[in-house]
Parts: sequence; structure tokens; C-alpha cells
Amino acid sequence: MSERNYTTVNPCIMCQPMGSVMAFKGIENSMMLLHGSQGCSTYMRLHLAHHFREPVDIGSSSLSEKGAVYGGSENLKKGLKNLILRYNPKVIGVSTTCLAETIGDDIKRIISEFQEEENIGDERIIIPVPTPSYEESHNSGYIKAVESIVKEFTMSDEGHEIFNNKLNIVFSENISPEDTREMKRILANTVGSNSYIMLPDISETFDAPMTGEMQKIPVGGTKHSDIADMKNSAATIGMGITNDNRAVDYLEHTFDIPAQNLPLPIGLEYTDRVLAALSNVAGIDIPEEYQKERGRLIDAMVDSHKYVYGTKVAIYGDPNNVLGMLSLALENGMHPILVVASSKSPRFAEYAMERVKQVKPDCDVAILEDVDFDTFNDAVRKADPEMLIGNSNGKYIAKEMGIPLVRFGFPIHDRVGAQRILSLGYHGAMNVLDKITNTILEVEDAHLEAKWAEAESYVPLGEDTFHFAEA
Ligand code: SF4
Repeated sequence: MSERNYTTVNPCIMCQPMGSVMAFKGIENSMMLLHGSQGCSTYMRLHLAHHFREPVDIGSSSLSEKGAVYGGSENLKKGLKNLILRYNPKVIGVSTTCLAETIGDDIKRIISEFQEEENIGDERIIIPVPTPSYEESHNSGYIKAVESIVKEFTMSDEGHEIFNNKLNIVFSENISPEDTREMKRILANTVGSNSYIMLPDISETFDAPMTGEMQKIPVGGTKHSDIADMKNSAATIGMGITNDNRAVDYLEHTFDIPAQNLPLPIGLEYTDRVLAALSNVAGIDIPEEYQKERGRLIDAMVDSHKYVYGTKVAIYGDPNNVLGMLSLALENGMHPILVVASSKSPRFAEYAMERVKQVKPDCDVAILEDVDFDTFNDAVRKADPEMLIGNSNGKYIAKEMGIPLVRFGFPIHDRVGAQRILSLGYHGAMNVLDKITNTILEVEDAHLEAKWAEAESYVPLGEDTFHFAEA
């Protein structure tokens, strides 16, 4: 692998405000405004619209040269006014972009000035989330936004100490709307449909049904009253273990809510762990429905084993998703030779190595994080995998190497259906495993067809094999 540390070439990550947008999209009746140049919100709208195939509106304070020199306060206030006028949201998330951070605009101060000047009362909540984009990634932007949302809604003393006996579920990484729906199904069947508060909830907002009616702000998302009620819950589970889930820590330290962090339930082992934890919280046995689903997954693993066993695979993407996919690959006898997290996270490498040691201690795997596609490209060529599993951005590498890419994670902008990709739970594991196995079978088919098409391999009856091949 060549050493290049002078610059980043094609980052595997997206910038922090992107994560903030994804988190706010999971909140009921909310809109996002980016304080910075117009191109930032256009880039994010486009990226999200291509992945989720939904219209995605994001406001912008449209900073220009004047704002960059004299400060963007005026633009931000105008932008907020316009957003309220056109969308009338109850919650507005305001994140900074590179430009706003570089000129040092203090969005908290500007927002409180705006609230005072415009007499914005309790009926509208504006949440600042500083997201300097030249550091960290969309993953940290997501975590910061979720933390800011929880803090904003729970800071009032009103309604505190009315114990609700609910379970908080707080994501630390973006998952698909289909996975969100699957998680809700699992929660409804374990702790009960009225006994949990899930944040954020993009099951409807990023995958809305076509009704024929234009919705400026998509219906759905975590209810504001539920977020405010999170401080009264019995326990919190943070979904994702590679990063610090700041909202979970905040709820634990401020309101003494017992907390634990669990991996995303991708693959057999991690789904077992999540179901065991939820059943434990609910004080029930694992529901029969899931015992049957687990059995079907094992059956599917047996069916696929002879095809996937030993396949050398490189997995890349967001850390918790990659960790889950690594676990699934190992459980199915695959050979993960390269595992790459797009962003740096405190515990990714540790948990990835732990999982490798548990399942396949002799597996020679390279674990990287916080690399760009240039470095990733070198690493893939060195590892020489037979398959890539990750987002659309790896397709050029896959194409050049002549190996298949199983699309997984974010962003998937060159195929439809990313919002419906199911990878969580036993159902999700079956879905992903079928996809991987069928991809391998398709490649084998193509190889066989190419071989059969070779003249040497076709020997008409009665002809001399040797002479035919020689001719
Ligand atoms: S990296 Fe900076 S300039 Fe580029 S889209 Fe993100 S915030 Fe805007």
C-alpha cells in the first residue's frame, strides 16, 4: 500500500451536517436549515434524495462573500424567517457548514437573538448543532444532533419524575427505513408497542407512502412528547457500540436512567444479543415467532454454506454497519480479509478483532478506519478479495477488479430500493445472506457460460477432441 498522508482523495465519509440532517429527519414535524453556502444544502438534498428516492427539503442561509466577510447573522435570521413562513415546522435544526465554522459564527447566540427579536415562544423549538465539517464525519454529526435533540426536549423540569416505565432506544448510526420498521416490529413483540421510545424514527419520513397529496414536511418521526418523556424512562438501550452514544450517556448521567449499548442486530449473534436484552427488559422469554425465525435463518445458513464458505470478502462503510456485516460474514464461513470503517471510532477495531477471534481466530484480516478511497483502493488490491460489500462508492474499484459488489449501507445512489434494504434481525440476516449467495452463484454462472462459449470446450459428437482443439 502506498503511503499518502498529504491529502484526502475521495473520502469514504460525508461531512458532519449530513449526519445532523439524517437525525433531524427522524423527528416529527421538523425541518433542517444549514448555515453556510447554498451548495452544501444542495449537495445533501441531492445525495439523500438519490439514496432514499424521496424529496428532501433542507433550508440554507445562503451565505455569500458578504456574509463570509461581515458574518452570517443576517442571513441566518432571514433563512429562519423564510423557513417558518414556508414550512411552519415545530422544530428547526440548525447546523453549521465549513464556511460558517471558518468565519466563526456563533449560531447559538444568533438563534437566541432571533428568538427574542421575533418573539418566538415555546410553540417553536430551534436547536443549534455546531458541526464543523472539516473534522470528524457524518457519523459524529448524527450522534451530536441526537444528543442536542434529547437535551433540548428534556431540559425543562415540566413533567419530570412521572415514571413512564418505558425503554428508550437511541441509535448512534443511520439505518434504513426498512430496518427501522423491522426494529419497531421486534420492539413491539418484546417490550410492547406502547412501551418504548425510539429516536430517531425515519421509517415514514424517508420512505413515505404515495398518497397523491403534497406534504411539505413528511408525516412521521419520533413524537416531541415522547422525546420529552425520555427522561422518565426505566432504561435506555443505545444501538451501536463502536462510538460513544452521547444522548445515552446524557440520559444516564443527568436522569439516572440505567443504560447499555448493544450492537446493531445484524447477523445471528448480534440479533441473539439484542433479542435476549429486550426479552430480559420485558421479563419474558424470547417470543416463539423469533425462535422460529432464528431456526429459518440457521436453515438458510446451512443452504448457503457450500456456496459462500471461504469467499474472500472486503467490507466497508459506517462502523456499526460494518461490524454487523463482519459478524454475519464470519458466521457464514466467509473469509473477511479487509474490513474498513469510513470514520474513526473509539472501539471499532477492538470489537472487529474480538469478533474475528471468537469465530475464526486464524482469519488473516486487515482492519482499517478513517481512510479515503485512495487508500482503500490500494488496500483492496493488496488483499485481492473475491467480493466487496459496501456502499455504491466502491463500484469503480469492483468494476476495475472484475469482482461483484453487494450494495449495503449508505449511500446507494446507483440502484433503487436502498430505503427498503432489510439487514436487521433474523429476517434481515436471511435477506442479506440470500443476496450474497445469489451474487456468488451469478458470478459462477457467468464463469461457466464464458467457459462453455470457448471453442475448445465444445466438441461435437463424433469429432476428434484433440484435432478440434488444435484447429
Ligand atoms: S464539506 Fe463543507 S463545504 Fe462541503 S458540503 Fe460539507 S459543509 Fe458544505
